[in-house]
Formats: sequence, structure tokens, C-alpha cells
Amino acid sequence: MSDEPKAIWWQNLTAGEVVAHAKKDDIAILPIGAIEQHGPHCPCGDDDFNAIGMAELISKKTGVMLLPCPMYGSHPYHHWGMPGNIPLSYETHIGLVMDIVRGAAVSGYNKFIILSAHGQVSSTIVAVHKLGLEGYFTLSLHWYDFLRDNKDVLEDWMWHADEAETSVALYLFPDLVDMSKAGKGGGDPLVDRKFIIAPGAAPRPGTMYHFEGTFARPEYKELSNGIIGDATKATREKGEKIVTRLVDHVAELIEDIRKRYPAGEKPPVK
Ligand SMILES: [Zn+2]
Repeated sequence: MSDEPKAIWWQNLTAGEVVAHAKKDDIAILPIGAIEQHGPHCPCGDDDFNAIGMAELISKKTGVMLLPCPMYGSHPYHHWGMPGNIPLSYETHIGLVMDIVRGAAVSGYNKFIILSAHGQVSSTIVAVHKLGLEGYFTLSLHWYDFLRDNKDVLEDWMWHADEAETSVALYLFPDLVDMSKAGKGGGDPLVDRKFIIAPGAAPRPGTMYHFEGTFARPEYKELSNGIIGDATKATREKGEKIVTRLVDHVAELIEDIRKRYPAGEKPPVK
């Protein structure tokens, strides 16, 4: 028997075990991604597998509970109409996240972290704030924006099926990646790039965040090969560095929450 700690997944436990865990530690992480084409070299579940892989490593390091990943995600403005994509409507996705948090709270969980590997702040921020009105403490992070700046590891920011995402995939699930088909692609934004903060880039004056406007046209109009960025620059080593950094930062966040609010204590949201 290996002594290596195991990730703690809700769906693998009995109800009694889920409740007993919450009495010791009532933080739960919800990994979310999307079903979306990721070019000719990565699978349509890329974002889910990235979120699940990162969540597993966080759970192994911290012992935190993981909620089942719902697989489907949302950002239909960009994704609707592209073969391979099955985006939820905004309303469905917001409702899905809220129902998962409400349901998990019944078993004694009081602190929730949504770990997203897909550009869906348009749903998660709304869900977090609506849950706040109901008294739930929920944080939402998108891995690349949580890290903010990885230019010491990556040549570009975090786009789509690109250097960043493919590197993470090569580290977490290499069997589903075919680098012989990796290429580069992308389109042109509808305003000058100097006004836009790329995903994963640090904010600077005079800029709007990538999702604060419809700067990019939908995938089916914009992308010829399904890629934004350069996937040929992806390596497993880059992925390992990025994922390890993310795991360490989230572990630090979990530690802070545990210190401030011991198990059973609800952060005073409402
Ligand atoms: Zn992706």
C-alpha cells in the first residue's frame, strides 16, 4: 500500500463519511470546466480534466473535500455554434453552481471554492454574489487569473488550447494530447489590444479585462483550427511548474480560511 495521500472525492464516499469529514474540515472545492473544442490536439473535455487534475493535487496536499465536477460549463457568447462545444446557457450554469453549493451545505460544508479552468467569470461571479445574498461563503477563482503572471514560465498569456492550456494538459493527462497535431491560431480583437487585459495578465491602467466586453468574435466565426495562441510551445515541464504554483497558492488560501474560521464556524457573509 502506498503512503501517498489520496484526493478526497465526495462521490466516492458514503453520506456518513461526507458528514464526518465536514465536522473536521468544512471547506469544499468545486472544480469546473466546460465541454469545448480544444483544437486538433486536445480533447473537448480539456478544461474539465485540467480543473479535476488541479483539484486532485490540492486535495492530496491539503486534505480538502472535492465536489464532483459537473463537466458542462458556460460562456455561450464565445462558444455557441462551434462544433465540439456544448455550452450551458448563463442561467443554467449560474443555477447549476448555486444548486451544488446549496446541496453540499446540507452536509455541513460552510466554505466553498470554485476552481475554474474555463473562461466563465460571466457565470461564476453572478453565482457567487447571488449565493452571498443567501448567506453562503463562496470564492471563485480561474487558475490563470489567480496566478496572474506566468511570463517566467510561459511566453504568452492564457488563451485557448494554447501554450498554457496544452502545457497543463501535458502534465495532468498526457495520454489525451497529440502534440503532432498542435498548431497556432487566433483572431483579431475588435478594439486595439492595448485596451484589453489578457487572461492571466496583470491589470494596468486604461484596460478592460478580457471578459468585460465582446472584444473577440465567437469561435465559429473567428477560429480556423480551434486554437488561440501557439500550442507548439507547450511542454510538460511548463505545465508542471504552473500547476505546482497554482496548488501552492490555493493551499495557502485554504490555510488562511482554516485559521480564521475553524470547522463548524461560518464566515459572517450575511
Ligand atoms: Zn480551455
